[in-house]
Amino acid sequence: MSELVRDLLRDLSPYTAVEAGEAVDLSDNTSLWGPPPQAVDALRGVNSAVLARYPAIPPAALNRALAAYAGVREDMIVVGCGSDDLIDCAMRTFAQPGDTIAFAVPTFSMVPTFAAINGLRAYAVPFTPALDLDVDALLASNPRLVYLCSPNNPTGTALPRSTIERVLREAPGTVLLDEAYGEFSDAPGFSLARSTERLIVTRTLSKAFGLAGLRIGYAVLAPALARALETVRGPYKLNAAAAAAAAAALTDGLSWVQEHATEAVAVRRRLAAELTEAGLAPLPSDANFVCVPCRQAERLGERLLARGIAVRVLRGLPPVTAALAASNGAALRIGVGPWSVMERLLSALREEGAACA
Ligand SMILES: *Cc1c(COP(=O)(O)O)cnc(C)c1O
Repeated sequence: MSELVRDLLRDLSPYTAVEAGEAVDLSDNTSLWGPPPQAVDALRGVNSAVLARYPAIPPAALNRALAAYAGVREDMIVVGCGSDDLIDCAMRTFAQPGDTIAFAVPTFSMVPTFAAINGLRAYAVPFTPALDLDVDALLASNPRLVYLCSPNNPTGTALPRSTIERVLREAPGTVLLDEAYGEFSDAPGFSLARSTERLIVTRTLSKAFGLAGLRIGYAVLAPALARALETVRGPYKLNAAAAAAAAAALTDGLSWVQEHATEAVAVRRRLAAELTEAGLAPLPSDANFVCVPCRQAERLGERLLARGIAVRVLRGLPPVTAALAASNGAALRIGVGPWSVMERLLSALREEGAACA
């Protein structure tokens, strides 16, 4: 990068996504069922008066819907342009340059990037072989901020509630709990946020709610912390059209969303069973995707793409489980969708003679 750019950015590069083109896209964990129809209707109702004006601060109907959904007070909600926005903002709200952010790996790829941009020291600790946290090792870094992702991307595994509670008891600073996949598991964030002062829970409408294109995320946290996060985030990050669609998705569209999240969980279980039957070894998942350690991930990913199915190829993951050690840290992350799509995936895998030893 150019010398004109701030020193600490020189080793960073822009995020890249899989280019799925015409292929069925199972690469980014967005919803193949799409958004609830009620959200699409709300978007159609956005008129020119709404478009011409700044969005309301706070977005009252959306904050009310989110507070009801999370079971918290409205002053405990902060919305943002995707939960990425809030994770980034939380780093500079609750830690200063030079402070340590500790997290378990492998995890969400944006975390080290946001940490670097915010001048934080990233302290990465491998997950245990059971994909639980090594709490002692994590806290040994005396972190100003701990990032937990549960269910975790890219492994799919959720942390035991007792582990999260222990971190909350013993961490010296604040704890950021990323529950982007919370709708697919029994996620404890909302209930913990009601009783804990120094927890920031982030959630998104990009996954279970099928609205990734509108960029809607939110944080749930104690009112005093919410005010600080709101200040750092700044005004008007969530646009008015997105706010209207999100409010509809969380009220009239909520049962539609919940039914499809339930279906995604059923598909995930069935997919994991079929993959196991085919001789593969998916990691246990509580999310809307499965992670399959696979030495030939790179080649298999290319072959699947040639057959019209895009999956995420992961390389260089820390060898925290025996399967990830055997695969040399290579894996495929495969999103779930309607079963007919999974059948296409499974037959493509069979035709490629996929064996991932
Ligand atoms: C997809 C994802 C997000 C968030 O996304 P936004 O679209 O920015 O809300 C956050 N964390 C994890 C772990 C994710 O996988």
